[in-house]
Amino acid sequence: MSDSMILVINCGSSSVKYQLINPVSEAVLAKGTVERIGEPSGIVTHSVDDADYTSEPVIADHQRALMLIDEAFDAHGPDLSAAGVRAVGHRVVHGGDKFSAPTVIDEAVESAIDALSPLAPLHNPGALMGIRAAREVHADVPHVAVFDTAFFADLPEAAYTYAIDSDLAKAHDIRRYGFHGTSHEYVSEMAAQALGKNTEELNQIVLHLGNGASASAIQAGRAIDTSMGLTPLEGLVMGTRSGDVDPSLHRYLGDQAGMSLDDIDAMLNKRSGLLGLSGVNDFRALMERRAGGDAAAELAFEVYARRIQKYVGGYLALLGRVDVLSFTAGVGEHNAGLRERVVSSLEPLGFVLDAARNTANRHGVSVISTDSSPTCVLVVPTNEELAIARATLTAVGG
Ligand code: ADP
Repeated sequence: MSDSMILVINCGSSSVKYQLINPVSEAVLAKGTVERIGEPSGIVTHSVDDADYTSEPVIADHQRALMLIDEAFDAHGPDLSAAGVRAVGHRVVHGGDKFSAPTVIDEAVESAIDALSPLAPLHNPGALMGIRAAREVHADVPHVAVFDTAFFADLPEAAYTYAIDSDLAKAHDIRRYGFHGTSHEYVSEMAAQALGKNTEELNQIVLHLGNGASASAIQAGRAIDTSMGLTPLEGLVMGTRSGDVDPSLHRYLGDQAGMSLDDIDAMLNKRSGLLGLSGVNDFRALMERRAGGDAAAELAFEVYARRIQKYVGGYLALLGRVDVLSFTAGVGEHNAGLRERVVSSLEPLGFVLDAARNTANRHGVSVISTDSSPTCVLVVPTNEELAIARATLTAVGG
């Protein structure tokens, strides 16, 4: 077997997702999840050759989770040493302004990721626990950190600067960082490839609409704006996150509702967005309720779509000309109704939907605009694991 296999690891605070990928052939040899780390009973699911193997062991910590992944490979295959793992690639949410490219991990990189935890308290500590555990379990291969923020590290200064006291901003590293960068970069490259162009020739807008959601404006391959900011809370309406709100909300809720900063933060991150407006955060459930005449679901859909419409219009103004608009991630790839609502509202700006193409069954990158539409509108399946695997292989020298 080839020796360029990459084990991709995506660690959260209580879960680990993994895939064994050949970044050249794009074959996924196995994948799985370890969930409920630190809870009374955990779940391990390992999928290989269309079979799923599930067990429910107690998983005390990330170290144990990584060992269980190793055991799952031993029990159900493929054999990791025969597969020839070249490196392990880790998804890390926040790279701050220190990391603008995939980086081979050593002690100093671990410390730097740790130091960035205040900026990403929900994400970086989990990633770091996973990195430390994986470096022990797979000590014989290099480990690479691939940062969600890296694609946006080169944003123009005017795009990343908040209009607040600049000394305070500098002292506390306050700026717009942007997230989902691995997906935005991958999708923009796939879109260019599908159109037979280089990214340098195109102005693009990418809409990553999953549980988290973000938009980016990309000029000649360089991101010039993005909707997420200091944290992944800013921007579009998401499954459970509010996206943009008036920053005075904290003060107002503190005064009027007696909520602490922690309460407000939890409300904005976990009980807002589609969930806060309609009672459900899953877009399919939202669409079912909306089809049944639920007024709250209808309003949530409109608030969600209108926010996207505003960002696309704003990015068109920044870019001057948009060649490609791409929809990606769970909602963007699968929800024709949302795409129809967004693109039809943008028709005066040169985005013309082909209704039949939008609802057709699709595989891979597909065009959903008319042939005469000034802007080409695409659905582009994202694949962050493949992008991480490719970046990891490049970082270790191929
Ligand atoms: P994340 O990776 O951020 O957890 P995903 O990209 O998987 O999220 O997107 C999750 C969202 O995509 C959910 O709201 C879900 O309802 C929606 N989604 C996933 N599959 C479909 C589908 N086949 N049809 C409609 N919506 C879908």
